[in-house]
Amino acid sequence: MQIDFSEKLKKLPPYLFIEIDKKKKQAKDQGVDVIDLGVGDPDIPTPDHIVEAANKAMRILDNQRYPFGVGLLEFRQAVADWYKKRFKVTLDPATEVVALAGSKEGIYHIHDAFVDPNDDVLVPEPGYPVYANGTVFAGGQNYFMPLKKENNFLPDLQAIPAAVAKKAALLFINYPNNPTAACTDKKLFEKVVKFAQRYNIIVCHDAAYSEMYYDGEKPASFLEVDGAKEVGIEFHSLSKTYCMTGWRIGWACGNAKVLQGLAKVKENVDSGVFQAVQYAGIAALTGDQECVDKMRKVFQERRDIFVGGLWKLNWKVDKPKASFYVWAEVPPRYTSMLCSSKLLEQAGIVATPGIGFGPSGEGYIRFALTQDKKLLQEALQRIEKIKWQK
Ligand SMILES: *Cc1c(COP(=O)(O)O)cnc(C)c1O
Repeated sequence: MQIDFSEKLKKLPPYLFIEIDKKKKQAKDQGVDVIDLGVGDPDIPTPDHIVEAANKAMRILDNQRYPFGVGLLEFRQAVADWYKKRFKVTLDPATEVVALAGSKEGIYHIHDAFVDPNDDVLVPEPGYPVYANGTVFAGGQNYFMPLKKENNFLPDLQAIPAAVAKKAALLFINYPNNPTAACTDKKLFEKVVKFAQRYNIIVCHDAAYSEMYYDGEKPASFLEVDGAKEVGIEFHSLSKTYCMTGWRIGWACGNAKVLQGLAKVKENVDSGVFQAVQYAGIAALTGDQECVDKMRKVFQERRDIFVGGLWKLNWKVDKPKASFYVWAEVPPRYTSMLCSSKLLEQAGIVATPGIGFGPSGEGYIRFALTQDKKLLQEALQRIEKIKWQK
């Protein structure tokens, strides 16, 4: 029998990190001692008190059954309380919070709720691949908003043609940003609210890195801005904040009607987040936040070591104020793909070529600081020895 993938599936590029993982495995098989700075997956274990909460919850019969729905009210209340404390934003846990099996899941499914064929989706590039790939599955069209260094890696809303904006169903933004590590103040959010009101576009702000900030500079929530809750939602993840990537838990919050749409898609696709994992989430959000401080300290130290080291080697790179990514300009006469191959072949270092996040990522390479400082120092020593073509 002939087995054909759907046209939608054929349209999708191979998922970036799966491809990088393949290359990494090949290098390992050839005996290379690989230092993986590729995928943004914290190497720090989930704090004990969170694991313990899940451990306890797992033994309770109720938690072993279908969770169904938008999440335990207790989890959504924990989110609302955390939000109030962190951003001074009030959320109604009954209608303005939906639990997600990781924010990636919600970012994907929001398209199914609001994107019809021929609708546009406004997507930043370089960017997290799911914003655009979700559009392809929903049958819509992506309009890419380039993030350029000269604009501090913020989208230029004025450059979006009115005809595109009129057909747009969703607009994605993401600060602190992956992959550029750029941050924004509330001015961008204010502009986005006005733009969304003018063209009737639902705003989706991905705040996965809101807690991974340095030097005490706390990023703002999109929902802090006047009018934001009328036009959009914010995605959050426990993955990076509490080192819980494997657990699959996050949430979306904000506009109740938008969340209703997302919840309806989810009712038809999944049956909710494992309740023991939701209890772990409650423990994370309501427990001692010292573990988050510790996490920030670890990554800040690594950032200082790694960026400082790259500066000494004359790399052009800014010190990130948030996220655990270093977005560095590639050496002259290199494309991002060639730079990434060179790093792997001559130094055994896995890093992600900027082009993988979109055409405006060309000229950059992304290092994820997901190895301890000794290995980062080792990586720097290996980078020093690379013979770049002049
Ligand atoms: C890691 C990441 C996420 C998603 O994480 P989940 O584990 O699915 O919660 C979302 N957005 C960006 C930009 C990320 O880097």
